[in-house]
Amino acid sequence: MPSDPPPVDKKKWEVGEKNTSAVCPQCGRTAPRRGTGTRKPRDLRDSKTGRPVEIEIAFPVYECKRCCRGHFNEDLAKWGIGPKRHYTKRVVDLAIHLVKNENMSLRGASRKLLEEHFVRVPHTTIQHWIADLEE
Ligand SMILES: [Zn+2]
Repeated sequence: MPSDPPPVDKKKWEVGEKNTSAVCPQCGRTAPRRGTGTRKPRDLRDSKTGRPVEIEIAFPVYECKRCCRGHFNEDLAKWGIGPKRHYTKRVVDLAIHLVKNENMSLRGASRKLLEEHFVRVPHTTIQHWIADLEE
């Protein structure tokens, strides 16, 4: 029987906490901050402790009233958070690497992420990541 996964290592990140405005990605004008959003992306397990990692990230949300964009979030790519914010970019990159470079099946890559990193990624999600890559 597989043993129970070790307890999750929870990490809190706060990014851009002092930001009061940002450039609207649609119209390029300055938009004021309207609040703070949070996400809990899953990361690869900690290489030192071996424990699964869940990050709680708080980030600014802005609102542009000068075009139809409305609310938009701080760009989290530079913090290593993947585009959909459910996983870090390290998880996305490893999944893509397993399929593209190590010729694993989508289900095989999904299983490896779960067994070795305790990160549950549906194989259909990995399929979407690869499709996005090839667009
Ligand atoms: Zn705008």
